[in-house]
Order: sequence, then C-alpha cells, then structure tokens
Amino acid sequence: MISCAPRDYDAIIAGGGIVGAACALACARAELRVALVERDVLGGGATGAGMGHIVVMDDSEAQFALTRRSQQLWQTLSASLPVGAEFETTGTIWVAADEDELAEADRKHAYLEHRGVPSQMLSAAELAALEPNLRARLAGGLLVSEDAVVYPPMVALHLARELKSLGSEVLMGHAVIHLSDGEARLDDHSILRAPRLVNAMGADATDCTAGLPIKKRKGHLAITDRYPGFVRHQLVELGYLKSAHSSTTDSVAFNVQPRKTGQILIGSSRQYGNDNSAVNHAMLSAMLERASLYMPAINSLNVIRVWTGFRAATPDKLPLIGPAPGDSSLWLATGHEGLGITTALATAELLACAFTGTAPPIAPERYRPARFDNSSQQGTILHQENA
Ligand SMILES: Cc1cc2nc3c(=O)[nH]c(=O)nc-3n(C[C@H](O)[C@H](O)[C@H](O)COP(=O)(O)OP(=O)(O)OC[C@H]3O[C@@H](n4cnc5c(N)ncnc54)[C@H](O)[C@@H]3O)c2cc1C
Repeated sequence: MISCAPRDYDAIIAGGGIVGAACALACARAELRVALVERDVLGGGATGAGMGHIVVMDDSEAQFALTRRSQQLWQTLSASLPVGAEFETTGTIWVAADEDELAEADRKHAYLEHRGVPSQMLSAAELAALEPNLRARLAGGLLVSEDAVVYPPMVALHLARELKSLGSEVLMGHAVIHLSDGEARLDDHSILRAPRLVNAMGADATDCTAGLPIKKRKGHLAITDRYPGFVRHQLVELGYLKSAHSSTTDSVAFNVQPRKTGQILIGSSRQYGNDNSAVNHAMLSAMLERASLYMPAINSLNVIRVWTGFRAATPDKLPLIGPAPGDSSLWLATGHEGLGITTALATAELLACAFTGTAPPIAPERYRPARFDNSSQQGTILHQENA
C-alpha cells in the first residue's frame, strides 16, 4: 500500500518492461535508491509480446554499436539467468532467397567481420544441412553465431527481483499519471519524488511525455506446439530488412525461432495506424503464408496461440535514451521498436553511466532525444547525422 505522504528516491523509473527493469537495476547497482513503477504486471507490455531474438543489426553505426554492446551484456548476464529465461545462443541465419539477397548477405558478412563479429557465409547446401526444413532452391545464407534467444518477461521479473534484493522498490498495479519536474504522481494520488525520473513506458511513453516522436507499430506472433529440432537457429529472411524498414506499408516477413521448449515462434508482421490489439486475421494469414513459403512443413504444425503487441517506433529507427529536452529531471528510455529486448541492457548501461558521471562504453549522443528537438541547435545537428 502506498502512503499519501510524498516519498523520496534517487531515481524513479516509470514502466516495468524489460527496458524499465534493466534501467532500474543498473541504477540500483550504481547505489541509487530506485522506485520502479508498473501500471499492470512486469513484462506485460511489448516485453511479453516480443520474440526475444537478441540480434546484432547494422542499419547504421549507431544501431550496430547499441545492439553489439547489448548482445555482449546479454552473454554476461546469461550465466545468472534462471532456467525459465530460456536463454540460448542459437545464432541467426539470414536466409537468402536469390542472388540479390546473397549479395546482401555478403555485404553484411564483410561489415560484421570488419567489426569483429563472428559470422559465416553459407552455401545453399550448407544452409539445407543446417536447416533441413527450409524449402529447396534457396540461394544460401549468413550465420551470425553469437545471436541468441530469450524469454523476455521472465528476464524482466528476474531483474526486478534483483532490484528488490538491493533494497529498491517495485510498485506494481499503479499507473503514473504525471511525470515531470522531479515528481511522479500515481493514479492512487500518491506522490514520489526524485531528481531523476525515467520514462520507460514503451509505446505508451507519450501518455506522460507529450510530443515524443513515437508511433505504435503493431506486430503479430504465433507459437506452435512442441516440435524439438524442427528449427535449430533463429531464421530470418533477408527480405525482412526491406519490409521492416518500410515506414508506410503493412508488411510480413519470414522470421521463426526455436524455443528451448521445442516450440516454434513464428513471426512477424508490422503495421502502423492500428492501435487495436485484436488479432487481424488477414495479417496473421499473410504472416503464416510467408512462413510456409520458406518452410512448407510449417503448415503441418499445430499453432496453439497467437497474439499481438506494440513496438514503440521512432522516425530514425533509433531509441530515445537520454535527457528529455525542457525538463532537467526527466530522462527517456523508450522508442526501441523491434530491438528493445536486444538493446535493453545497453540502454540501462548508458543511463546509469549518465547518472553517475561514468564514461559509457559506447558514444551516447546519437540516441539522445534532443536530436528531434528542433528548438535546439544540438537537436538540428544530430537530426541531420541520423537522416
Ligand atoms: C511482435 C513483436 C516482436 C518483437 N520481437 C523482438 C525481438 O525478437 N527482439 C527484440 O530485441 N525486440 C523485439 N520486439 C521489441 C521489444 O519487444 C520491445 O522493443 C521491448 O519489449 C520494449 O520494452 P519496453 O520495456 O520499452 O516496453 P514495454 O515492454 O511495453 O514496457 C513498458 C511498460 O510500461 C508500462 N506502462 C505504460 N504506461 C504506464 C504508466 N502510465 N504507468 C506505469 N507503467 C506504465 C506498461 O504496462 C509496460 O509494462 C518485438 C516487439 C513485438 C511487438
């Protein structure tokens, strides 16, 4: 029960998804007294709806730096995760359907190799040997062996437990209705105060911070019954890179994941302008058809559940991590779109470094919200860099 007298902390984190939980724990480990406030249940937002693919991406140097750093932090964290977190270094195979996509795999291979990320080009025969349920006559692929999969809501819970063990507080079932000027007001009229407030409310971040450049991007997923060995790596079509980047049209892509349980998670779809969480049967059918185009035998598997979730998308496909313009107490950790599981740990690290004045391992500037603040000189410059 929260009392009505204002309570003081060093940092208040609004939103108990994987990003908020990771940020809260990183702050607590930096010896800040933290309150993590979650409206519903921990990990019940996009974190519970997401796929849990931890993947190094290379759309931009900024995206590469954040995903690679975070992937390394996941490798370290994995040793202490509970079994239920289902962490597994499956690797990703980027599947090339034709010669154009094979050329893209080759470009990606060179990019990763140059930056010290292990990856290996696969011939058509090697691809078929690694994943016999893929259809015949694919061109080949690229195996990125350090990519992994995880069950994200279990990790959010684990991080929150660690947070509590350090003496910080987790307040569940309380919505933040106001978050600014060093104060968080909750829907039960209680007031929390801290010199640092963090909006980590994912796709709902605009509820408390108006004007953020965030749009909801709906996604569907389906999970099958248990078929151990049917899929062995996270498999993603290289065409995904085109469809995931379209900022106007609805899209589906072949993206399947083996779970430790033997289940197969089938994705994925992307839609703007649809804030209704109901399953859209046309999108779902298109997604499953795409999957069966690459893996015909997937049609014979039993799908036991389908669901949707909302990614928090920004215009430049990079998250908002850093101080919010116009309020010296407010910080943002949101806008992670389809990479928030991957990048949660590096996000938390950047935030904790900023709060403690420690040098961060990767340059934080390109994730700063000020890049969209047209009123500031800095915002204009950063916006051009990211264009
Ligand atoms: C279909 C799909 C597939 C995905 N696949 C992947 C993947 O394979 N790999 C990957 O890296 N990422 C993936 N993502 C993206 C990833 O799930 C998100 O980027 C990530 O979960 C964002 O975490 P978050 O903590 O910022 O947001 P959320 O998990 O949405 O957490 C925000 C929390 O804030 C709470 N909240 C909201 N409003 C308030 C309020 N007023 N007061 C208090 N609390 C509030 C919510 O209840 C929620 O728990 C996928 C997303 C979707 C939808």
